[in-house]
Amino acid sequence: MAKGHINVQTENIFPIIKKFLYSDHEIFLRELVSNAVDATTKLKALASMGEVKGELGDLTIEIKLDKKTKTLHVIDRGIGMTADEVEKYINQIAFSSAEEFLDKFKGKTDEETNAIIGHFGLGFYSSFMVAKKVEIITKSYKDEPAVKWECDGSPEYETSQVEKSDRGTEIILYIADDSEEFSEENRVLELLKKYCKFLPVSIRFGEESTWEPIEGEKDKDGNDKTKEVKKPRVINNTNPAWRRKPSELTDEDYKNFYRELYPYTFEEPLFNIHLNVDYPFNLTGILYFPKVKKNFEAQRNKIQLYSNQVFVTDSVEGIVPEFLTLLHGVIDSPDIPLNVSRSYLQSDSNVKKISNHITKKVADKLEEIFKANREDFQEKWDDIRTFIEYGIISEEKFYERAVKFALFKNTEGKYFTFDEYKTAVTENQTDKNKKLVYLYTTNTEEQHSYIQTATEHGYDVLVMDGILDQHFMNTLEQKFEQTTFARVDADIIEKLIEKEELLPSLLSEDDKKKIQPIIEQNLDKARFHVVFESLSASDLPAIITQNEFMRRMREMSALGGGNGGFGFGNMPESYSLVVNANHPLVNRLASESDSTKQSELAKQITDLALLSQNLLKGQDLTAFIKRSVDLL
Ligand code: ADP
Repeated sequence: MAKGHINVQTENIFPIIKKFLYSDHEIFLRELVSNAVDATTKLKALASMGEVKGELGDLTIEIKLDKKTKTLHVIDRGIGMTADEVEKYINQIAFSSAEEFLDKFKGKTDEETNAIIGHFGLGFYSSFMVAKKVEIITKSYKDEPAVKWECDGSPEYETSQVEKSDRGTEIILYIADDSEEFSEENRVLELLKKYCKFLPVSIRFGEESTWEPIEGEKDKDGNDKTKEVKKPRVINNTNPAWRRKPSELTDEDYKNFYRELYPYTFEEPLFNIHLNVDYPFNLTGILYFPKVKKNFEAQRNKIQLYSNQVFVTDSVEGIVPEFLTLLHGVIDSPDIPLNVSRSYLQSDSNVKKISNHITKKVADKLEEIFKANREDFQEKWDDIRTFIEYGIISEEKFYERAVKFALFKNTEGKYFTFDEYKTAVTENQTDKNKKLVYLYTTNTEEQHSYIQTATEHGYDVLVMDGILDQHFMNTLEQKFEQTTFARVDADIIEKLIEKEELLPSLLSEDDKKKIQPIIEQNLDKARFHVVFESLSASDLPAIITQNEFMRRMREMSALGGGNGGFGFGNMPESYSLVVNANHPLVNRLASESDSTKQSELAKQITDLALLSQNLLKGQDLTAFIKRSVDLL
């Protein structure tokens, strides 16, 4: 037996390790199992070079819990360590990396430390976060005696020779009193499923039951009797789809892998992208396009990040552009530095390259589907538009690609690319100032009468009812030249109509002066002002419009969109009541001599306009209905 003192200045490093990593103790298991996997992979490599003699045997890694001793065992059949190697790797090198870790984070706030925790491989020593004592029993593949190393969490350790016939390493953790959860089967199973689900060497933990028919025995209904059969429980799929060649995989394989990743999601993905790069960085993975729901926050951050098949995190913010966090799937790259903070990640050149590569691949895929089968693309459009719009809003590089395949949909359900739409409406929808005006609706039901007016005049109306459309249109207005978006009830519509044909007005200027106050009587002057326009006789007698800019500003500040609203949120809503100077009813209003009838008619005309903007409510609505019945 030999005793030693771990070479360190700090009196007792373990309580410090524990404190620093308080929020993420569970990673110890990932570290131990990864070490076991590494030792097994190294053994296979040595064997293939002829360096290991004899049969390798079953290389399955075994995790065991002993309830009585409250110990957790991680057992591998890998290369093992000689006494010298234990001295070197465990007492010196591994320890110095633990020390280095502490040096690095000395003086950092909890928040800063938390940001990197879970990404930092503290390695073997992280077992002291949950164990009061740790033993290593190991026998090298080289013909040397087995060694036992033990340490009770103080800087003292002991090594001794032991009997161990088979090659490999067993790590035994005596679970600490404050970490009892890690001696419970369910908790350990949960951790193995989280971190080790796709490790490349088989991992066994406990047993699971299956029910199998008993031959020749039937129950009273004639069905086979079954018996419970216990089988070793294998945790992982050692050859996950993203590590395989795309040419080997069918659509069904991709779908199955999606189910493997998200067993509780029933919705199928729309399509997928297989990533596979080895130069200048190493990146594999499969990304899936889900149907993006109205409430997309719940679907976000589902991408799992792996490093050589070891699960690292399922929050990839800062590693991929924000709009890509709407995708699902797996990214595996040993080239993403994991031991640094997120803010550092964003400026890391490898991370930037990886993130640009992913953006490019996603755009490639969308363009490919668009080109190969536009109909299919259009069918999927409603489910992917939020994603594409998000990309256009937030990533210049994505916008440059997406202009080719992003679509507009109009009220007739027709789809256009940006270029196609421009060509389609240029002739009609250019206003006096030579600006293109793209009319849109945010609600085809509520704005129905406005849509009808617009389409009757030969204008096209886009459906912009998505959650990001407001921002999307703002972005496009900045990108496109000479183009504005205007909702169908915007005050711009009368300018477009006016431009069309300068109709002579039926009403004289005197008529207008006469009826203006009669109409204004019915309106809240702070919110409405009356204007006369010469629209056609088939248009409505009066319509209500809003200023596009003011409405958008108000809506943006209502959404709390940063400083987007510039305080417009407090502005009262304001509307124009546009009276159609060519409508027969308005004409009758001007010539009516009975003043009671005249004011009734004025009220009816304004109420109709209010009604189509959904502004007629409560008492006024009741009065309107009653008056309408009386008139009939
Ligand atoms: P890292 O794995 O990052 O090198 P660790 O502290 O986890 O750091 O381990 C230190 C070293 O101890 C490893 O590099 C390896 O040489 C050795 N080691 C740890 N676990 C095992 C094991 N199960 N089998 C063989 N060697 C091991």
